[in-house]
Amino acid sequence: MKCEIIPERCIACGLCQTIAPEIFDYTNEGIVLFVGEPEATHEFIPKDQQSAVIESAKRCPSHAILYQNS
Ligand code: SF4
Repeated sequence: MKCEIIPERCIACGLCQTIAPEIFDYTNEGIVLFVGEPEATHEFIPKDQQSAVIESAKRCPSHAILYQNS
């Protein structure tokens, strides 16, 4: 599964980091980024993290997290 983040949409609510702390981190301003890959906007999500990423995407209030099954 691939995940895309759109930092321009993020409102720094912190929810995705709470749901999927192994995938999502945040900048000093609280804006979403990927753990260990601060410059990336796309990332491959391993199977054991997929449900957490899907839940994050569904609950993100600003639709800043997208995913694609492939
Ligand atoms: S849940 Fe959405 S708005 Fe909240 S920190 Fe994550 S990406 Fe940003």
